[in-house]
Formats: sequence, C-alpha cells, structure tokens
Amino acid sequence: MYSPADVTTCSEFPIPDRMKAWVLADPGELKFTDKNVPVPRRAEVLLRVDAAAICATDLDVIYHGPPAIIQGGLPFNKNFTPGHEYMGTVVALGPGVDECQIGDRVAVEIHAGCGQCKRCREGMYTSCLNYGLNYGSSDKGHRANGFTTDGAFCEYQVNNINTLVAISDDMSDEEGALVVTAGTAMYALTELGGLVAGESVIVSGAGPIGLMVIAVAKALGAQPVILTEIRDDRMNIARGLGADAVVNVGKVRDVVAAVKELNDGKGADYVVECSGSNTAVNDAVHMASRGGKVCLAAFAHAPANLDVAHVVSNNIYLYGIRGEGKSAVRRAEALMRQKRFDATKIHTHTFPLAELPTAIRYAKDRIDGAIKVVVKPRLNAPS
Ligand SMILES: [Zn+2]
Ligand SMILES: [Zn+2]
Repeated sequence: MYSPADVTTCSEFPIPDRMKAWVLADPGELKFTDKNVPVPRRAEVLLRVDAAAICATDLDVIYHGPPAIIQGGLPFNKNFTPGHEYMGTVVALGPGVDECQIGDRVAVEIHAGCGQCKRCREGMYTSCLNYGLNYGSSDKGHRANGFTTDGAFCEYQVNNINTLVAISDDMSDEEGALVVTAGTAMYALTELGGLVAGESVIVSGAGPIGLMVIAVAKALGAQPVILTEIRDDRMNIARGLGADAVVNVGKVRDVVAAVKELNDGKGADYVVECSGSNTAVNDAVHMASRGGKVCLAAFAHAPANLDVAHVVSNNIYLYGIRGEGKSAVRRAEALMRQKRFDATKIHTHTFPLAELPTAIRYAKDRIDGAIKVVVKPRLNAPS
C-alpha cells in the first residue's frame, strides 16, 4: 500500500503503489503500461486524475516532440507520460502542505515555473526561463506537466500547490478539464492583451482555443466578436457561445474585407489567430485596426509570410501566447463558476483512459464532429 514518508494520505482515498499509464515510445506510438504512483514532495500534492482533455499540442508532442523537453531533449522512448489539460481530486499531501485538503476537486495549471527566474517573478511562469532546464537540476521544482514532467494520461499525478485551482461542486469532471483551456483564452485577452469591455475581437479558427476566446471575450464585454471559420458545425457552436457574426472563409472572396465590413471598415482592436493556416498571420495583421493587437495562439507548422511594412506603418502589436500565466486559470474558473459561459458546448466525446489512441484519433481527424475529447481513468467506476 502507498505510504511514503512524510506524505499525508486518507483511508477514504486508498492509493495503490502502481498505476496504469500511457508512455510515449517512438513518434506517434503510445504504450499502455504500469508505473509507480508518483510521490509528492514539498509544496506538491498527489492528484487522482479524474478527466484529461486532448489538446492539439498533445498531438504535436506525440508526433513531433516539441514543445516537450524531457531530459534536455526530445520526449521519445524516455518513459514519458504526456497529457496536460486535466482536473482531479487531491488524494495525498506532500510534506508540510496545508494549502488544500484531501478530497478537494481541482483544475490544474500546466506550468509550475521555477519560481526564481525573471519571468516567473513577473507571473509569466509559462515563459519560465528555466523551462525544461531547472538550472540543471530536476530537484529545483520546475514542472510543466505533459511537457517537461509526466502528465495526465495515467491514473495519478503530482502537482505543485501553486497550480491548483478549486472548482465549483456543480462543475462536471469534463467541464473541470476545460478550465485550463479557458484560462489560456483569458491570458491571451486580458493579461497579455489588456482587453477591456467594448473592444472588438476577431477570432480566426474555431478550434477549442478559438471557441474559448469567443466565450471569454463575450463574458468580458467585448463587442463585436467575429469568427472566421470554414466548418458549419463549429460556426453554430461559436454562435451558441455568443459570437456576434461569423464569416465563412470558404464562401467569401476576400476574408479581410468581409470582416472589416462587419466592423465599420476599420478592423478590430484584437485579432486572435487560432487557425495556424498559411496565410492566417498576414490576414490577421490586415484585420487589425491601426494600433490594434494580434495574438498568435496556433502552433503553425511553417514560417509565415508577413507584410512587415503594414505592421510597422499601422503600429500593430504582435504577440505569441504560451499557456496560461498570471493566475488566468483562477479568473477563468470564476467566470465559469458564475455561469458566464457554457464551456461544455466545446466538449464532444469521452473515452476511458484505456482507449486513449481512439480518443486521439477522434480529436486529430475530427471524427463525428469531435472538438474537445476527454479521457477518464475511472469512466465506469462508482464515484
Ligand atoms: Zn493544451
Ligand atoms: Zn522560472
């Protein structure tokens, strides 16, 4: 039975010594195996993973490697468990932890920065300067679960207490797993972007992040919020999340002109690029108004061709976003707790953990209209 020294457990949540876990072998190859249940150290807890969502970045990690860094390099054949968007129940406390209790249901931020570098001290722990490096020592405490340390496609995982966000009791496990996705949208719009009510937002691409940006932007009072997209089912979900207008990229000759027409011909205060398409970045800077901001949220796979003179002469701000810093996840959870938007519209499928490859196939190939696909280790277990 699991009883590491100085770790607090509770008989209500018995923990086995071994657990089922997926590990990444060669690129694109996952193996279902057994691992020791990890042990929380100082300022860490052990979570029972209740729901883990599949993200496009998981596909990047599983098929290509980056942005995961394991032991200073690519994540393949290193017994590494991916998965970074999840929620769970606190089942054991590391030495000295009194910030939460066993039984708490929590969403988790992905990144626990090193806490020591300049960016971490600024609250930008997703841009930690020691990402995957830890000043050369894995004991320094930096974790980015599913990227630099083991993630959520397993039954139990350790998390730093700073990454825990208590979720409302009436939130389902699936909705809880989407809190971190909403946190990314929040970080893009408010902390990095500085959005205030009444500003206009254009979102290109209605993947999970794009849809969340629409939901969060509307909850924050943005007006209008316009989506450019190609798939009808996703346009409908976007409308359900509050999008004021939708432009079907497949049906207009000039998408930039079409979105400008919907916003007084001047372009938007914010353009959030979530599609990753070849021409998207250049289109985005032309959709922004003079002095507007363009947030790049998609992991594009090829360098973009960009009209730099347009960016310069129109004073356009261009910024990338990685993850969800500055406690944005907590603020996103607060909006969800207040029912300011319904994140469950983005969740489409749930599979047992053992069927992760099927779940990934649904997410990757968008089978049956899949958007956010969730796996649950205890899908049919009594709660
Ligand atoms: Zn993600
Ligand atoms: Zn740091």
